[in-house]
Amino acid sequence: MPQSSAAVSSFGSKVFHILLLALCYACIGRLSVLLAIPPGYATAIFPPAGIALVVMLLFGRYCAPGIFLGSLLLNLWIGFDSGSDIVAGLPIAFGAATGATLQALLALYLVRRYVTAPDELIRDTDIILFLLLAGPLACVVNASFGVSSLYYAGALNSAGIAYAWVTWWVGDSLGVLVSAPLLFILLAPGRGVWRQRRWAVGLPLVMLSVGLMWMFITFSSWEVRQRQFEFNEDVNITHEQLGSRLERTVLALGALERFFSYSANVSRGEFKGYADFFLSSSSDDDVRGLSWNRYLRQSQRSEFEQTLQQDVGQPFIFDFTAQREKQRSAEAEHYVVVEYIEPLAGNEAVIGLNILSNPVRLAAIFSALDSGQLSVSEKINLLQSNEDAVLLFFPVYSVPALDEAQRREHIAGFVTAVLAFKPLIENLLTEKDSSMLEMRLTDVSNNNALLYQTAALPQSTPLQLEQSLNITVGGRQWQAQYWLSAEYKSLNSDFLAFYVLTIGLLFTSILGAFLLVVTGRAHYIGQLVTKRSAELKGVLDNAIDAILTFDSKGNIESVNPAGEKLTQYPATQLINKSVQMILPKLELDPLVESELHNSPLNARFDSTVMRQDTAAIPVEVALSKMEFNGESRFTVILRDLTERHEAEKIKDDIISTVSHELRTPLTSIMGSLGLVSSGVTGPLPQKAAELVSLAMQNSQRLTMLVNDILELSKHQTENYQLAQEPIALETFLTKAINLNAGYASQYDVKLVLQQVPTDMVISGDEVKLMQVMANLLSNAIKYSPRHGCVTVFTAISAPQFVDIAVQDQGNGIPLAFQQQVFQRFSQADSTDTRRVGGTGLGLAIAKIIVEKHQGKIWFETVEGKGCTFFIRLPLYQHVAAMPLPG
Ligand code: ADP
Repeated sequence: MPQSSAAVSSFGSKVFHILLLALCYACIGRLSVLLAIPPGYATAIFPPAGIALVVMLLFGRYCAPGIFLGSLLLNLWIGFDSGSDIVAGLPIAFGAATGATLQALLALYLVRRYVTAPDELIRDTDIILFLLLAGPLACVVNASFGVSSLYYAGALNSAGIAYAWVTWWVGDSLGVLVSAPLLFILLAPGRGVWRQRRWAVGLPLVMLSVGLMWMFITFSSWEVRQRQFEFNEDVNITHEQLGSRLERTVLALGALERFFSYSANVSRGEFKGYADFFLSSSSDDDVRGLSWNRYLRQSQRSEFEQTLQQDVGQPFIFDFTAQREKQRSAEAEHYVVVEYIEPLAGNEAVIGLNILSNPVRLAAIFSALDSGQLSVSEKINLLQSNEDAVLLFFPVYSVPALDEAQRREHIAGFVTAVLAFKPLIENLLTEKDSSMLEMRLTDVSNNNALLYQTAALPQSTPLQLEQSLNITVGGRQWQAQYWLSAEYKSLNSDFLAFYVLTIGLLFTSILGAFLLVVTGRAHYIGQLVTKRSAELKGVLDNAIDAILTFDSKGNIESVNPAGEKLTQYPATQLINKSVQMILPKLELDPLVESELHNSPLNARFDSTVMRQDTAAIPVEVALSKMEFNGESRFTVILRDLTERHEAEKIKDDIISTVSHELRTPLTSIMGSLGLVSSGVTGPLPQKAAELVSLAMQNSQRLTMLVNDILELSKHQTENYQLAQEPIALETFLTKAINLNAGYASQYDVKLVLQQVPTDMVISGDEVKLMQVMANLLSNAIKYSPRHGCVTVFTAISAPQFVDIAVQDQGNGIPLAFQQQVFQRFSQADSTDTRRVGGTGLGLAIAKIIVEKHQGKIWFETVEGKGCTFFIRLPLYQHVAAMPLPG
């Protein structure tokens, strides 16, 4: 049961996710369409393309139906808003929805396939690949689907395909590039890297995008205002021009009326003269004709018909039948007959026409007659040219008429202008450079009957780009409606603002990519540091040796648990304390020196750690320097030697006990062998004598070894003290030379003592120091070539100390052996032993003796060229000035 209810709830939450996604997709898509340039669906940025991918990446492919639904909803919504038929819009919506879903699925596949961690985007290549694959590459899909469905549904013509495709593709790509990082920040805050990117990536992206939108909206509303201003300006000018054209015609007609009023009889020629003058004085051809229409009573008809016959060959007054055929007018009380008309060409057919036969003309004529004013007819269709036009009538009276009765009494005729709309309005609109305006003229006085229109009024125009103005002419009110031409609109869309927005968004997405790379790297380095720190901590925590670091002033900066254990101080009591608190013998001068000269430091020596309980622990010290941020740090590794020392002591004790036990029997063996070889026990056969001599040599070697071992162990006992007495250096060295002269002559080696300052006095135990000199000299002699020279000289290179050097011309000490020279039982080549003799203990003993004098022993050697051993000993005055050793 619980399982199935969990399944239901997970199904329910999935459905909820899908619906939520669909809603967000549609709403954000609708908002982004505000950034589109009309006409069209494509916008500068379409964030839902990014939403679709990121949501699927984070929550799974099951969200795909949400994308389909969202896109479907959005496209229907846009169609509905633009007033088009929902059912007709369905194929477009389906096409775009399919494209959007497939695009998101392709993007998902590509990033999962080629990007290592697509939901984290840490590595540079991951970021670049993600943006390229999910952006420009995958977005090809919906641009193609969307544009194809628009095309096949007839909402797009083939000329517009390329442009629509590119804008769609750019909008979707920018949608992914800009919104994907923001969505990760919004939807995956649990993942460390995105939380860090909130400020570093999210904030700049949001700020830039908002800034760009604001710029776009401001810019395009400025463009709209600008256009509106231009539109109003144009409309006003055009309308004024319409007024002045009508005015001009009215004036011309007024002048003609005056002409007829004041002349008793205007001849056809005179009329022609006036009309030609007027018609040719303007380049406009909106006035298709001027005419004189004589008023006739029935009594005047036959006389008039005769004149007409004479003048133009028209024998009678006529009306037009419905088939536009002339038909002699029926007898009537009054007639108004076209007598003169100019231009004559093309208008000949109407001479003799009784215009009272037409009700539209009749109405206008009566209005003119009774008012004594200009009267304009309703729209008529010109018999001659089938054009839409109006007639302007001005009454002419034979005497000035004051009231209606007088007017009817004295009416002589009407001067008339034929005004065709097409030339009037087309000329008006093309006069300015504007294909910008469309116009529709209606007759308000005649139920808004359409007089003329340049194009059908569009179903919806932005209100501010449409204007209606009235104009009154001849007692008739017309309304002129102006609006922006569609052609002009598509040519002058908000391209500038749109391009600024697109380029700005492109820049934003590049910046976004850059910020992702930078933060990705920082995150990667952070992770690496954490990992390495953990590793290092593991090493330090588990090290058996104590490890401390300190700065060049000797202040401890860190200590590991083994360090705490060794010193018995908790770390808190060690940090920032001087390292000399636990390593009192450590000299800081060489450290400062090494930092000053930036020289490397790598030293290994034995020392003592002072524990918290004041116990002195013997340690081996490994000291090294590291450079960090231009400052020196020192690391010291301390190895507790207590156990090793104890083991060595046990070993040394055994050796010295054994040596002790060997010395007495060895002495007696040597004595006995001496007696035997000296012949006290009788002469020895040759063979036996040789064997005895060999036994004696080996016994001597053994004795030497036993003596050296005992000497060494003597020095290791703590209470063994050396004498401290003044020793005249020159005498001392001369004696040393003399004592070893015999040995030197055995090897054919010359001993030379260079000049020694006579007043120099050193301090020490003369016997032990002589032993050191003997060891150095005998080594130098032993390892010298035949006829070589061993030189002894002195130098002062440290205050209050003198250096004694023993220099030979032997083979020197091989590099591999140099480290072990002062260790016990160490010889460079044990095969040499037999030739040169020796135990390998001499230098170890010399080192102990010299160091007990607070001196120092070292050597310099060049392989194959000889070796110089130095000992540094204190001058007597210096020792006298030193505090007594406690
Ligand atoms: P040994 O008793 O064997 O001389 P030492 O302790 O005096 O022992 O010397 C140790 C080793 O140092 C020697 O065996 C030799 O290999 C090397 N050595 C000492 N002095 C010299 C020297 N002057 N020239 C070359 N090698 C030397």
